[in-house]
Amino acid sequence: MGVHDLWSVLEPAGSECCLKDLKGLKLAVDTSIWLFQGQVAGKHLHLRTMFWRVYGMIRSQIQPVFVTEGPTHPLKGTRGQVNNAMTSQIHEAGIILLEIICCQLLKALGVPVIESAGEGEATCAALNHVGVVDGVITEDSDAFLFGATVVYRHFSCDNRKAGQMKRYTMEDIKGKLKLERRTLVAYALMVGCDFTDGIPGVGKVAAVKLLESLKEEGDILERFHTWKDNKSLQLLEEHRNKKKPDHCRICAHAGTRMSHKSDGCGQCHLQDSCTKANDVTCSCDWHQMNEAFENQRYELDVRTKAKTPSGFPDQRVIDAFLEPSELHKLTDKDTKLQWSRPKLSAIKEVLSWAPVKDVLEMVTAYDMAEIRGNIDAAKDRIQPDWLVFVTIYLMCSY
Ligand SMILES: [Zn+2]
Ligand SMILES: [Zn+2]
Ligand SMILES: [Zn+2]
Repeated sequence: MGVHDLWSVLEPAGSECCLKDLKGLKLAVDTSIWLFQGQVAGKHLHLRTMFWRVYGMIRSQIQPVFVTEGPTHPLKGTRGQVNNAMTSQIHEAGIILLEIICCQLLKALGVPVIESAGEGEATCAALNHVGVVDGVITEDSDAFLFGATVVYRHFSCDNRKAGQMKRYTMEDIKGKLKLERRTLVAYALMVGCDFTDGIPGVGKVAAVKLLESLKEEGDILERFHTWKDNKSLQLLEEHRNKKKPDHCRICAHAGTRMSHKSDGCGQCHLQDSCTKANDVTCSCDWHQMNEAFENQRYELDVRTKAKTPSGFPDQRVIDAFLEPSELHKLTDKDTKLQWSRPKLSAIKEVLSWAPVKDVLEMVTAYDMAEIRGNIDAAKDRIQPDWLVFVTIYLMCSY
């Protein structure tokens, strides 16, 4: 799921946060992960989990928008297996039905639901990228590759579990780790993600070392494209198997001890001898080439391994992350999100056990958030007698 080992790379850029830090934010939720998390120890607790999380969010004056997963991306299909095990499980027949019921519940709670035509996290990221939402709640690290700017991981409504929820921003990733969105795509191409297996034999350590070594070399994806025909890299690659020529054991320069004794050493500037090595660096062709080789060793090692899968880098994978396809294009409806007041009767249709008191709390929190956002429009609702009236009416109805 997501990009292999990317969370551990991003870890130093993450910061702890809790629910109250999210007050007033609009957040896109990658719903498939919540559905998966609701399936605890074989028990279907999806609706219960969903209800209490949305309750916690609305009470904390967070405006969530839920994004559901679309069909599997064609690139995942070409890999001959469904790589996203979570997706495959969620889309089992029974779970699809549950997803429909969860969406019903969300709509009853007044929360907008967007049905993604592709990956849920990609649509969440697109919403975040254009500023429709302030952040994305997901466990999928590829949200950043799809353009998310703020991602919340390990979401929890429990303020007591301090330190559980983590906030990652692209700004911190750039500032602290010097990684850009395109660099993260390059990382995914090397180590593997939902769309590619990556380069055989290249893991997190090698990929990170390569990214660090090429920090000053311009756009990394463009660099990958030059690998095939890069003559200077090819020359350095040929050096890999070249045997080191004889070097004198006295002065450590190119040539044998015997030849230096009779003919002298050019680097020691002596015609019939040489001097004892004292931290001497040799400037022979082999050593010059070797220095250049060592400087680019990380890149050369990965480049050599990349020859195994033909056509590296796969432009289709790059496009899947960077070019919003028809699958992830946002419609006007997606960008004009409408939250509405939770409807107790509709909630009860899905959840017979729904606690009236807590729903009323949600209604009040919703109204307060709306009042805060639009004082003029909500003038009438500020009246305490209105709240009393609604509360009594709802209590008597149920
Ligand atoms: Zn010598
Ligand atoms: Zn010498
Ligand atoms: Zn040398």
